[in-house]
Amino acid sequence: MLYSDVHLHVNPVRGLGAEKVARKFKSKGGWFISIISLPPYHYGFTDISVESYRKSLDLITREAMKAKTYGLEVVKFLGFHPAEIDNYYKLGVRSDKLLKLVDEVFELMESALRDNLIDGIGEVGRQHYGTSPERFVFSESVMIRALMLARDYNVPIQLHLEQGGLATAYSIKLLAGTLGISTEKTIIHHANLETAIWSDSYGVVFTAPIRYFDERYASNKWRYCMIESDYIDDPSRPGASAYPWEIPDTINKFIEKNVLTEEQAYKILVDNVVKTFGVNPP
Ligand SMILES: [Zn+2]
Repeated sequence: MLYSDVHLHVNPVRGLGAEKVARKFKSKGGWFISIISLPPYHYGFTDISVESYRKSLDLITREAMKAKTYGLEVVKFLGFHPAEIDNYYKLGVRSDKLLKLVDEVFELMESALRDNLIDGIGEVGRQHYGTSPERFVFSESVMIRALMLARDYNVPIQLHLEQGGLATAYSIKLLAGTLGISTEKTIIHHANLETAIWSDSYGVVFTAPIRYFDERYASNKWRYCMIESDYIDDPSRPGASAYPWEIPDTINKFIEKNVLTEEQAYKILVDNVVKTFGVNPP
């Protein structure tokens, strides 16, 4: 079997970095990873300015290049995470100043898309935890704008959302239809089983976190499922997410137990990835 991880983070400043992650994942049969940029301050870029995002873009560009030398197919994403919006509010940044930063980061993302420096937008979305209504609507506005940008450049978008089952899947289907972006590009990241069921029935692509991928989750005949580790590469938060190599271990276990057929595993680990990200098949 060939394995993919469609949502992970690498942090060469604090953690293992792409080189070690790619080497180990490849040795376990990995063929594809999707690197999602972390908030700039996770890399030590603490200036609240577009410069920090430019540095993050440079960093993931270099990291992706390193990962590619191990023979992996690699795509990369730059975004504006709802946690960043909370963080800047907490630091006392007013909404008008924050919107100016968002404008500049969107200019950066657009030029990066034009120059093929990134393969999509993400993560953007809505807080999955309690926050103020103001921050929530700000985050959602950023997401709507990101959906329009992804539509204009015909690229996938990684959405960080509350896990609201039908409500979450319906909201993305509705927004995608209104804005004119295909639901085969709007990836509902970190979907729990309930949200996965509704996403699949609405034809919205989603990623199953390998930690949630138990027998019940694995035994569904998914059409739009892909798999992620959401590895955060931060040694100060061990256990906060899975390792990419837990993907081959878990998938193999379910194939052996006949919970998952090889054909179904190939669909979610290869076919759906090729289709969503527009990469060459392995
Ligand atoms: Zn993530």
